[in-house]
Amino acid sequence: MMAFPLVGNEKIANAVSSALKENRLPHAIIIEGDEGTGRHTLATYLCKGAVCEGEDKPCGNCLNCNLIKSNNHPDITIIKPADNKKFIAVDQIRELIEQAVIKPNTAKGKVFIIDPADNMNPQAQNALLKILEEPPENTYFILIAENKSALLETVISRSVVLSLTSVELSAGVDYILENSKHTSEDIAFALKEAGLNIGKALKLLSGKKNSKASISAKEFLRFMDLNDSWGMLSVTVAFEKNRLLAEEFLKELKLLIVTELKLKNEGNRAKKLFRLYSELSEFEKNLELNINLNLLYCSLVSSVMQIN
Ligand SMILES: [Zn+2]
Repeated sequence: MMAFPLVGNEKIANAVSSALKENRLPHAIIIEGDEGTGRHTLATYLCKGAVCEGEDKPCGNCLNCNLIKSNNHPDITIIKPADNKKFIAVDQIRELIEQAVIKPNTAKGKVFIIDPADNMNPQAQNALLKILEEPPENTYFILIAENKSALLETVISRSVVLSLTSVELSAGVDYILENSKHTSEDIAFALKEAGLNIGKALKLLSGKKNSKASISAKEFLRFMDLNDSWGMLSVTVAFEKNRLLAEEFLKELKLLIVTELKLKNEGNRAKKLFRLYSELSEFEKNLELNINLNLLYCSLVSSVMQIN
């Protein structure tokens, strides 16, 4: 039997395990949580649990479990917005309903994953409601959402809501330590930066070597050493348009600074780095306000130039 795949979230782990054991998986499940909290991992686990033919579900070994593992199960359907569209349209849900009443191919039942479910417009949700009220036998609907508040009350009341949360630091460190090659110091730092969100922490850790943000962060420090304000600004230009990207860039810079200060925390350069670090923290706070990013970078660079 496959163990519950998420760290923390004990209540959900218990509820899911006993539902699978007693063969009473709910027909409609809303998985709610921020990106990185393990929504898709849980959805995959539930899919396996729904169609597994092993003794202890999900077994991870039967044909159905293996087809899901290779993203190849004919009875699992993912509904997402069409290319270049933000919303899941009512026609897509009508098609889902047509599919849902056709017999499954391999498994005893079918699973439909709607992702992101908060991007269904009200019409689509109302169409979905019809089938949630009378779901065909062995048919399951998994709605993945950042926040269930975007869903109609009627849809929520027909579903079981599983709200995923961030983890405790020590549990998160242990988990990542077991599943990666990073040191516990780096993991703890990344987890704190990521607000104790495992997915985001993993992203920070894995992207740290060669992402654009990471390369640019190194460049920025090189120009800082040269006291080259234009050089620094030429680096930040790439991170002016997109706040998420800017966030990543700032995090990479902080990671570099911390890594270096761990090795050497005295001298002029260390002084500069300490100052830069505190400026970056200020910057991050401002990032949430709707201030022009170009202005923020200019003020960051000018305060770095004053450190000498
Ligand atoms: Zn199985």
